Amino acid sequence: MLWDPEFETLPREALEALQLKRLVATAERVYATVPFYKKKFDEAGFRPGDIRSLKDLSYLPFTTKMDLRDHYPFNLFAVPMEQVVRIHASSGTTGKQTVVGYTRRDINTWAEVMARSLAAAGAQRNDIIHNAYGYGLFTGGLGIHYGAEKMGAAVIPNSGGNSKRQIIIMQDFGSTVLTCTPSYALFLSETAEEMGVDIKKLKLRVGIFGAEPWSEKMRDEIERQLNIDAIDIFGLSEIMGPGVSIECIEAKRGLHIFEDHFIPEIINPQTGDVLPYGEKGELVFTTITKEALPLIRYRTRDISVLYPQPCKCGRTHVRMERVSGRSDDMLIIRGVNVFPSQIESVLMNVEGVEPHYLLIVDRQGNLDTLEVRVEVNEKGFSDEVKELQVLGRRIEKDIKDLLGVTAAVKLVEPKTLQRSEGKAQRVVDKRKI
Ligand SMILES: [Zn+2]
Repeated sequence: MLWDPEFETLPREALEALQLKRLVATAERVYATVPFYKKKFDEAGFRPGDIRSLKDLSYLPFTTKMDLRDHYPFNLFAVPMEQVVRIHASSGTTGKQTVVGYTRRDINTWAEVMARSLAAAGAQRNDIIHNAYGYGLFTGGLGIHYGAEKMGAAVIPNSGGNSKRQIIIMQDFGSTVLTCTPSYALFLSETAEEMGVDIKKLKLRVGIFGAEPWSEKMRDEIERQLNIDAIDIFGLSEIMGPGVSIECIEAKRGLHIFEDHFIPEIINPQTGDVLPYGEKGELVFTTITKEALPLIRYRTRDISVLYPQPCKCGRTHVRMERVSGRSDDMLIIRGVNVFPSQIESVLMNVEGVEPHYLLIVDRQGNLDTLEVRVEVNEKGFSDEVKELQVLGRRIEKDIKDLLGVTAAVKLVEPKTLQRSEGKAQRVVDKRKI
């Protein structure tokens, strides 16, 4: 379903004309109001008035997470604080949080792209949206919430945690749409099983999952365990929050980026060069309607591909491939690039193990080591020790064949790896480099 048919199906020519107009306006505004950008443009010898076509975007400076941290908390804001009505922040693994702000119009735009996203996933006004994304500084909870209200659906603000209560609410309130991280969806499925509730028989029919990378195999697993359609949503607080892009339920293949608000590019993460459609690289976004914190060419570190082929849903907005990893989460093990999602896809193809795993990277002498801890399921665990060894060897061979790295696989008992109610912790890197 299209929430906003006019903008979601704009012919490319009209869409690009709109993007150019909005890009020039954004560049002029940041040049005039954000000293950081004035300096960057001046250093590049390029003025906002020099922008003649969308191709000129490649002359504009990049913005990085470090730039946001260096201007902590509000120094990249393009409006006075009296116009800011909301502040979110995302925790980083190191150092200060990344702080973002919204004007009233920004909140409205966000609700709009989230309403579009919910509609793309097949949600409607009469749905009961069970929102298990965290509420708070994290953008997930409130992002979904405002979109659901804008659509006119009923939203239940569960936030994360208290999983048994979530199952009871799903059962008693008749939740039809589940929104959370994909790993939490599987955890809720396990919780229901422990409670003796058949989650397949609940009224849930669609799940909208994001905030962490997941694989096609994990989608199959979630769809099978919960008996729903599982849809991938993408966003990041720096650009807006959830609702930057989403899969349509018609195709479930690639996420439509709402290009009338965000211009995407794919670059080579090493050189910064723009790559053509179809090539894999780092996603970069420029916001073209945001007021409080417009960002020019923000480097997401997420690895994806853009493809412009028409989609059967009728949307004209370009699609991005589901994020396959992060250029900064990428592990280099004995010189080989390894994304945790690649290991996950190997594990998901093996009978007898669960999609719960932990990668432990270490260094012995000068040699990197990779240990993969993975849970066997109840059935796998009842097998004999010898069979477990065979299973372990098989996974090691699959990883070696597919990724070219040697891993030591350690099978652990069901439900012994720590569960997360937000983003799953998949990697422990003990190397001191
Ligand atoms: Zn589509």
